[in-house]
Amino acid sequence: MPFKALGLHPLIVRATQDLGYQEPTPVQAGAIPAALEGRDVLATAQTGTGKTAGFLLPILHRLLAQPRGGTRALVLSPTRELAEQIQDVCTGLAKHTPIQSALVVGGRPEGPQERAFRAGVDIIVATPGRLLDMLQRNVAKLDRATTLVLDEADSLFDMGFLPDVKRIMARMPARKHTLLFSATMPPVIGQLANEVLRNPAVVQI
Ligand code: AMP
Repeated sequence: MPFKALGLHPLIVRATQDLGYQEPTPVQAGAIPAALEGRDVLATAQTGTGKTAGFLLPILHRLLAQPRGGTRALVLSPTRELAEQIQDVCTGLAKHTPIQSALVVGGRPEGPQERAFRAGVDIIVATPGRLLDMLQRNVAKLDRATTLVLDEADSLFDMGFLPDVKRIMARMPARKHTLLFSATMPPVIGQLANEVLRNPAVVQI
């Protein structure tokens, strides 16, 4: 099945072709149709399965279909390195579109990150610590971010980030489209999914 058959915007399909993706991986085939419909997603997927494009492709499609205005999507990652990888994939997949993304992670100058929020960059890819700090100092805003991805949720938990994740979520609109990806599904992640997802499509590969 080609990407086009999933109903993705042609400018996004073109980017998958540029990247040499021939057809959706299993996690993409499971997650993309549900996310395109606006359903929450609970996916068990390890690195290497194509999970990153599995959440970015439907987000890009939906952002393209909505009016622009402020930061509309947030991707939370447990580590800077993973956030950088996500941001790279996002840049590649969005390259034929006007959608902009920016990294908000510790260990880097804050000036450009503050400017990204002021400019209303469409997608922020962040680690929780730096983002929460900026939210608490009112130099970041998420009041229009109605899409949230929790990537590697099990690592977010293992690294002690769940309290920060919940504080960040409290600064977002209550009604959100949420996609939760995790390499493993221990009970604590099941509980988190129960708290934050509404009638999710469950994707297991
Ligand atoms: P991830 O699991 O998101 O870290 O992706 C693992 C690798 O698979 C990355 O190098 C992606 O560029 C690549 N990839 C993602 N989706 C596809 C696809 N549909 N076909 C071929 N390669 C892909």
